Amino acid sequence: MGAYINFDLIDTAELCGIDIRRSTLSNDEVEARCPYCCDHRYRMYLSRLTNMFYCHNCGTGGNAVTLYSSFNPKGVCLKNYESYNALLNEPSVGRHDVPVQPEKSNAQIREIEERSEIYTELLKLLRLEKEHCTNLLNRGLDSERIARNMYRSFPTDNAERQWICDSLAARYDLHGMPGFYRTDGIWHIAAFKSGILIPIRNKQNLIQGLQIRFDNPPVKRVTTPEGITIEKIGTRFMWLSSSKQKKFEGTSVPSYIHITGNRDSDTVYLTEGGLKSDVASYLSGDKLFIGLTGVQNTGFLKEVISSLSPKRIVEAVDMDVRSNPQVRKAQVKIQAICAPLCETYKRLFWPIDQKGIDDLLLFRKLKKEYEEKIRKGN
Ligand SMILES: [Zn+2]
Repeated sequence: MGAYINFDLIDTAELCGIDIRRSTLSNDEVEARCPYCCDHRYRMYLSRLTNMFYCHNCGTGGNAVTLYSSFNPKGVCLKNYESYNALLNEPSVGRHDVPVQPEKSNAQIREIEERSEIYTELLKLLRLEKEHCTNLLNRGLDSERIARNMYRSFPTDNAERQWICDSLAARYDLHGMPGFYRTDGIWHIAAFKSGILIPIRNKQNLIQGLQIRFDNPPVKRVTTPEGITIEKIGTRFMWLSSSKQKKFEGTSVPSYIHITGNRDSDTVYLTEGGLKSDVASYLSGDKLFIGLTGVQNTGFLKEVISSLSPKRIVEAVDMDVRSNPQVRKAQVKIQAICAPLCETYKRLFWPIDQKGIDDLLLFRKLKKEYEEKIRKGN
């Protein structure tokens, strides 16, 4: 591991029988029919410069290994590392040495542009498992939005995760990237339990960091002051971070705030959670939402609100937690930060049987659909 081989994309495409526009074969950008969306207009571009492909019709992108995993001559579906190993035995596919960007010396978190680029490339190498896709659909998102927001399943298979990391490390310096750490000169992605990766974006839609929504939140053992050990359900969301691997050049993530929806809107809806904000924004016709990664995580709140400069701010923290004194305290703090930065600040209320603003919006949508169905039936 570590010595990652970059297989030639065009050789691989030829081997996979991809329909290439022959007249473009000597160009830097070779044009092909995209096999993912069965495009007929040669809208897939295979770059000789980056050795990556991208379809301008369906948005699918990747490298030789990605392509081979789905369209190899045997017609079998391979995992990325299986595809990589199979390509090692393909004599017709050339190999490249790709220069890695010069290494950064300090352990500071990387600039947002670099972070966003590397995280985006990471996400392109990952899949969204069916059960995770179903989970997102059940929240009210549609498949187009799920694809656009780039949710992915965290790779729990060690060999696959290492393959993905080798592939990234061959092209990028991973210093200062939360979620990555290095031992004996080899970069790794920190291990987490299975879950959905959620990009946490900024005003420019760049990825600030990735959060994981665990399928099963970890169970924590806590000892009470009375000396009794009890099991508590741990947190459902966590940053993709390598703060635990600080000794191994790991990097932690500060509590960035997610921004989603129409950035030009003069009304900002404030809630807790990146995924919740995405869903609520989608279900409300792309209203501008910001999602704190915890009601107490207000470190960037002033900066974010100032950059969006809204007229109105509507706070929509989950109804069911508002009786919690800690949450109430946090709500007061949020209001104290936000109110001076807008003309009107208000708190949204709804019946408590709908926990979050996303649940409320989904309930309304389903109710409307149901009523329409009944009306048509009569
Ligand atoms: Zn396509």
